[in-house]
Amino acid sequence: MLKKGIDRMSASAWTERAVTVLETIEQAGRTRALRALRVLDGRTALRDDRVVLLCASNNYLGLAHHPRVRAAAQGALETHGLGSTGSRMTTGHSALHEQLEIALAKHRGTDAALLFNTGYMANLAVMTTFAREGDVLFSDELNHASLIDGCRMSRARVVVYRHGDVSDLEEKLRVTPVSGLRIIVTDGVFSMDGDLAPLADLVRLKRAWNALLIVDDAHATGVLGPRGEGTAAHFGMAAHEIDLHVGTLSKALGSEGGYVAGAQTLIAWLRQAARPFMFSTALSPAVIAGAHAALHIAADESERRERMHSRARELRMALQARGFAASQGITPIIPVRIGDAGAALALSAHLDQMGVFAPAIRPPSVPEGTSRIRLTVTADHTREDVETVANAFASFASR
Ligand SMILES: *Cc1c(COP(=O)(O)O)cnc(C)c1O
Repeated sequence: MLKKGIDRMSASAWTERAVTVLETIEQAGRTRALRALRVLDGRTALRDDRVVLLCASNNYLGLAHHPRVRAAAQGALETHGLGSTGSRMTTGHSALHEQLEIALAKHRGTDAALLFNTGYMANLAVMTTFAREGDVLFSDELNHASLIDGCRMSRARVVVYRHGDVSDLEEKLRVTPVSGLRIIVTDGVFSMDGDLAPLADLVRLKRAWNALLIVDDAHATGVLGPRGEGTAAHFGMAAHEIDLHVGTLSKALGSEGGYVAGAQTLIAWLRQAARPFMFSTALSPAVIAGAHAALHIAADESERRERMHSRARELRMALQARGFAASQGITPIIPVRIGDAGAALALSAHLDQMGVFAPAIRPPSVPEGTSRIRLTVTADHTREDVETVANAFASFASR
């Protein structure tokens, strides 16, 4: 009886806390509603039985629905079943996983690569495996949440430098006492702004300070470089200039999963010690086979990448011509800065009415006062789609 009473009491205390948290989020205007979509291809989705123009997905090359990708996944599903049945250390490791790792390393130009279940987990793995107590992590202030969480989970001290600011980083490297080793960590392409890290300078600094340089290329994989190798290739740098490249299968490769590519010894260390690798069930063979097919298409069919880049240029120009603060840049991520969260939501709702799906991005995903519509383009978008989007923005301004 007593136990039952205690349970009920603790349950109500937790309910009270939950309600308080939810109310705080609500009052800050930050409640998120999940909206169910059925993505049809790289440019459209079905929402409430209505076809909308999708301008927010990370499916940059339109590969999630590619016939060869689907066929590869279906084939693996038939021969291997759905689940991988275990961790890579036990029963979950298959020839498909092994072959994809070899292909990913080859594509990047590194010795080796290791798969993780998500890019998020790959980042947690890298930060918690390599950084120790006494080490210092130098982290760009706009790094992805998974890198921030990885920094927090590591035992190292974290020093945040101003976004893309090489002199600030240089200064911080100079004044920060370090008993262990240094790590510099950055997004290659920043997820909310679509701009690039100053890689050549970061390589110079990492050499000068004997630091490990980690580049999260989630948005550069398949997108930048002649064959979609990533940010280093875009800058004409050899892959080994960067110690660890984090990539994802979940964006331009249209599948799921993350990976880390680098020198044999570092990858071996991850394979032996990274907890997100060891203590989670391996990715489904179907997901792996689909990603492998997508990797070939992404590498070989550069016309897809060119189409995506053309659409991105056209959309930037079309929005700027209509007076919108569309970012400069070279990636398919085109944030249109609005500032106020309410205004960004109103614009997003208007776009929605015009059949354009582009959610508002607001705090805590981006800093206060920088709410925006984050547009993305894919290889599947057409020139007419670009006009449709730009006109939907214009009709909001003149409403
Ligand atoms: C999306 C993203 C990730 C996470 O990758 P998932 O495979 O979706 O978990 C990591 N880093 C950056 C910069 C990202 O944009």
